[in-house]
Amino acid sequence: MKILVMGPPGAGKGSQSSKIVEKYKMPSISTGQMFRDAFNANESIGIEAMKFIKEGDLVSDDITNEIVRLRLTKKDAETNFLLDGYPRTVTQAVALDDLLEEMDTKLDAVINILSSHDVLFERMEQRRVCKVCGASYHLRFKKPVVDKVCDKCSGELYQRQDDTHESVKRRLEIYETKTKPLLDYYSKQGILYNVNGMQSFDAVYEDIILVLDEI
Ligand SMILES: [Zn+2]
Repeated sequence: MKILVMGPPGAGKGSQSSKIVEKYKMPSISTGQMFRDAFNANESIGIEAMKFIKEGDLVSDDITNEIVRLRLTKKDAETNFLLDGYPRTVTQAVALDDLLEEMDTKLDAVINILSSHDVLFERMEQRRVCKVCGASYHLRFKKPVVDKVCDKCSGELYQRQDDTHESVKRRLEIYETKTKPLLDYYSKQGILYNVNGMQSFDAVYEDIILVLDEI
């Protein structure tokens, strides 16, 4: 199963994705995480990418397509994978389709988590991420057991630089103009499935599983 999870920033893509990959035992491919890892490892691709991320901009298509190509051609992504946070533009989607075609495969489903801007603002400002393992929490919807401490690895939780109000506003604007057209792109391919994201984390997850068990 090769799937893509979409939705505006703050819709819970990351948290849902980590639960899905656990259930179906598939690698999760998050460009955001790969860029952060590359940045922490002082790799030039990570340093370049972080310049965009810090401004709340999308990382350029060239850099993004390259990091995805490197990852998707690894052995563990041969039969199953989940893409989280990529593609974000139609140009990237076309590059992805070309790459998959070269690999003689295709996407099976695109899950789109729908949410309103009000809900997204509230959620993103309440989001906290683990410094060590990258697990994400919400102060209201998915609280850590111990305040400011990661449940999984006891790492320290922090607010990502791109989760501040101004940056969130910018990311939502970018989503509307650059990422939303992707919904049409995948709808035309007949692989788009919409899920209501304005419910509890577990209810959203159950709706996604209903879709995935059907394909
Ligand atoms: Zn952690």
